[in-house]
Amino acid sequence: MKMFLRELKSPPTDLPGIGPRTAELLANLSIRTVADLLLHLPRDYEDRRHPTSLEAAAREGKPANTVVRVASQSYFGKGRRRTLKVTVEEVEEPNGSAALICFGRSFLSRTLIVGGTFYLFGAVSYRYGELQSTSFEIEPFTAEEGRHRAVHAIYPLTAGVTQGILRRAMHRALDEYGAHVEDELPPTLIERRRLPSKARALRSLHLPESVEEASEARRALAFEELFYLQLAVGRRAQRRAAERRTPTGLDASLQEALRARLPFRLTADQEQALSEINRDLSSTRPMARLLQGEVGSGKTLVALFASLGTIGGGRQAALMAPTELLARQHAETAARLLAPLGVRLAFLSGNVKDPSRGELLRALREGSIDLIIGTHALFSRSVLFARLGLVVVDEQHRFGVLQRLAITQKGRDPDLLLMTATPIPRTLALTAFGDLDVSTIRTMPPGRRPVETHLVREGNLEKVYTFVRRCIAEGRQAYFVYPLIEQSEAMDLKDAESMYEELSTAIFPDRRIGLIHSRVDEEEKSATMERFVGGQIDLLVATSVIEVGVDVPNASVIVVHHAERFGLAALHQLRGRVGRGAHSSYAFLVYSEPLSDEGKRRLKVMKESADGFVIAEEDLRLRGPGEVAGTRQSGLAGLEVADLVRDLDLLAEAREEAFAVLAADPGLLEAPNRVIREVLARANPFAEEMFQGG
Ligand code: ADP
Ligand code: MG
Repeated sequence: MKMFLRELKSPPTDLPGIGPRTAELLANLSIRTVADLLLHLPRDYEDRRHPTSLEAAAREGKPANTVVRVASQSYFGKGRRRTLKVTVEEVEEPNGSAALICFGRSFLSRTLIVGGTFYLFGAVSYRYGELQSTSFEIEPFTAEEGRHRAVHAIYPLTAGVTQGILRRAMHRALDEYGAHVEDELPPTLIERRRLPSKARALRSLHLPESVEEASEARRALAFEELFYLQLAVGRRAQRRAAERRTPTGLDASLQEALRARLPFRLTADQEQALSEINRDLSSTRPMARLLQGEVGSGKTLVALFASLGTIGGGRQAALMAPTELLARQHAETAARLLAPLGVRLAFLSGNVKDPSRGELLRALREGSIDLIIGTHALFSRSVLFARLGLVVVDEQHRFGVLQRLAITQKGRDPDLLLMTATPIPRTLALTAFGDLDVSTIRTMPPGRRPVETHLVREGNLEKVYTFVRRCIAEGRQAYFVYPLIEQSEAMDLKDAESMYEELSTAIFPDRRIGLIHSRVDEEEKSATMERFVGGQIDLLVATSVIEVGVDVPNASVIVVHHAERFGLAALHQLRGRVGRGAHSSYAFLVYSEPLSDEGKRRLKVMKESADGFVIAEEDLRLRGPGEVAGTRQSGLAGLEVADLVRDLDLLAEAREEAFAVLAADPGLLEAPNRVIREVLARANPFAEEMFQGG
């Protein structure tokens, strides 16, 4: 029996060798079905076809790939730091030996028993007068050589799940189900583009003979995915072209009231964007507009004006933000600016619990709330509107491509305003979203000074501390950002928890310091944020949670540690936390050496440019083609395989093919297109997302 990939809904426990315990661990990777498993994509590949001895590996700086016998086990360190050390000898090399340091992997003592023989793969180097490896993979020598000495897929992992477990699971899934996987593209298209069958592509992706084969398979699967994305876009465009609605009946009096209350004037670009939006609000076609503008350029305010237009016209508005922190901040801004105008506001997140949640939902349903601000919680089925007129999505790239459309289905043809500070090249925006209009805010509000950016070697931190001390003495506030939440044995990086301790006790003992990261609970997070906004905290220690949207104009310094580890987009966003008021502002990007070439280039871009568009383009360029397997952080979530940066060419081709199909056969009735209809009915890659959330 043939099935589409997404129809393989049996649990992983149906595969031989996968028990309930492994299945539980796999669930932590969101793998709950065989389909999920096969869609767990490799992040990289390693060519292990050629053996490399320990000595050659150390000499040439590449991973060892050899067969070893365990000679002895011992331990060093005390208490929680007690660490297993296993000495191994090479079977095929006369004097080859190494020590395997098993940080946090004491369980290996049961596997690596003395006398046992294993394949060993991993980086080795001379330390303390011997060859050591701290990061390695082992596999019993009994496994067939062919499987070990091959090109290996490297998967994203979670605690308790090893590469070996995933690789074996993939093997079994492909053996059991591979042959039954049905193609999802019209046969005519497969033939014309010389695409591999879906079954073949999946095997090549997980168990390739060569890295090239894997990369071709990934492109084929990406094409198929983009085809369905573009089909969805095309069908939406078809529907939209046919839509006619009664215009909202824009009433500008509330907008005028807000304008009169503001202590400043809207910039010319804000005015322009607003008039474009107002025109859409009173049109017979629902608005679908992207509002892009530099971090701090005043998009939120434009969104609030837009909401007032809708509310003035007697309908409701919803504003969604990707994090609770940002959503709360928007809610506070709205409370300050809109509540005095009589606008009825509400805030909703997963943390708003009954009974207030129930009351809020009822008020929303009955129409006694005008503007609701919240997180993903707004997607929930239980959220219903009396007359939803406008949906605003802030930092829209944080949401799935179609996820954000799900909320528009809660109203009858509501207007949609997407906001982003991560500029999307116009062509990409149009291609990815099909039919968006774009408004751009180019100029910043007056009085802003550019942020002065300094690159600082870790050894020169003392100077930064002195500088920050002076800024705080002058009444300013500062952010300190770290790449990790807490100490990690695997990575020698500074973390927010320990640095919070150190900064509070040793470096700024006389200052008020707050800590914020994703594991701090929401109540405490918003209390801390409130104190920082109110100036009762001088210095906020954080991870990149503060990356999006946080707006505290009095904060004038940001220090980012291990800046070389952050992507350009993140650094740009982080830097955007300062320079939001009238004070001179500073960003210190602290790096530790050695720096990779790419790290060096990123820091240079940050030092030289403050222009989000330039930085976004550099980002595209630096992350461009070249790497084999993709990250999904392409800026547009919701795609499993394709990466809109790397597969931009495929996107254009997929769009052409999908639109050609729709133009020739709008109802998808012709024989070759039957498979499309079947996929849409039985296994639509974008359907589930539209109804996500409980
Ligand atoms: P964005 O969402 O685009 O990053 P915000 O809407 O958060 O930017 O605006 C940043 C800050 O600038 C806010 O404190 C806001 O009140 C202020 N602001 C917005 N528009 C103006 C303006 N025209 N003149 C002065 N300040 C402004
Ligand atoms: Mg914003």
